Amino acid sequence: MPDVFADLVGQDEAVAELRRAAAAAAAVLRAGAAALVTAGPASGNESAADDAATGGLDPSAGMTHAWIFTGPPGSGRSVAARAFAAALQCVHGTGCGECPGCRTTMGGTHADVRLVVPEGLSIGVSEMRALVLRAASTPSGGRWQVVVIEDADRLTEAAGNALLKAIEEPPPRTVFLLCAPSTHPDDISVTIRSRCRVVPLRQPPADAVAEVLARRDGIAPDVAQWAAAAAQGHVGRARRLARDPEARKRREAVLAVPRRLTGIGAAFDAASALIEAAEAEAAASVTEADTAERAALETALGAGGTGRGAAGAMRGAAGQLKELEKRQKSRATRAQRDALDRALVDLAGFYRDALTMALGAPVAPVHTDTAALAGAGAQKWDAEGALRRLEAVLACRAAIEANVKPRIAVEAMMLALWKG
Ligand SMILES: [Zn+2]
Repeated sequence: MPDVFADLVGQDEAVAELRRAAAAAAAVLRAGAAALVTAGPASGNESAADDAATGGLDPSAGMTHAWIFTGPPGSGRSVAARAFAAALQCVHGTGCGECPGCRTTMGGTHADVRLVVPEGLSIGVSEMRALVLRAASTPSGGRWQVVVIEDADRLTEAAGNALLKAIEEPPPRTVFLLCAPSTHPDDISVTIRSRCRVVPLRQPPADAVAEVLARRDGIAPDVAQWAAAAAQGHVGRARRLARDPEARKRREAVLAVPRRLTGIGAAFDAASALIEAAEAEAAASVTEADTAERAALETALGAGGTGRGAAGAMRGAAGQLKELEKRQKSRATRAQRDALDRALVDLAGFYRDALTMALGAPVAPVHTDTAALAGAGAQKWDAEGALRRLEAVLACRAAIEANVKPRIAVEAMMLALWKG
């Protein structure tokens, strides 16, 4: 296995900073161990032992208790956070990729690394409180308790407050790694932000994405190159496009939209098709998990039991099932929005291509396979018309993000695309 940072594509500066921090963290542990060994009862060295016991993290020395990884979707926020977690648990260096600390962290089984991946639209306060409590315990492996929170922008306000308390007075050996699109107050509260060190990631260049797809995933170089460009720097999306024929088919259907907008009726049809495709894609991704969860809960609740107490137990069970259904619905909504957002990003890429062509800008198209169509659009619409259409797609994304009903936002967008 290569170094734990190997999959972090095109982020040299961030990797260098994280390595320095991991080295500083290892030095803290070594100093702590040495201090505890030399600090006998009468050695007069208690203060060093105290420093060691509190972690003694000096932020200026490269290591600190709370971090935020920011960057556009697909830039590798969670990859960076997990790699850094592994580097902190590495017993040989700063993320060798070989030792048990690295391998269990990367495999998701390290006892002192907790990963929070929100399934629904938000991370609730009870989940966060439980997490903060566990994070305060002494690391069983003798190194660090690491809590990785993916999509920290989905914290509810109450959950954010629970987290803030822990970050303000961090247990000596606990490290929080947050991932968010940006440090805008909409994504991360100002108070949490002020307690964290920010590691900005950038959108990796297509060449770097293509290189890693070919090297790590064994994808043919020409396919990797195409997928990297089409995914607009989103590493995971590029890999799916390169490997999954269904994902390619969905993308083709989305890119057929501009051609199909021949009238009002067609615009509404296109909106329905886009929404339904997103729903189908989301359903396919969550149905299996939903069924398994429900079966597991029913078994645990002893569904179908008879005799004394069974009726009362079933009344309690109904509440738990309702709770599960609520969680599953929230997860399904999230999956639909994510699927729809991917489609909108593809569509935005198409109009961006038309715009750059109308301007004669010397940049490579996002979608090489629809470049001719974008070129025809550029001729017909000019730069202004292409820009208006691109803005209509971006406005649709923003509206959905602001909780406008997806169907309404998509219909408005399709009409705008048709009218120009
Ligand atoms: Zn290691």
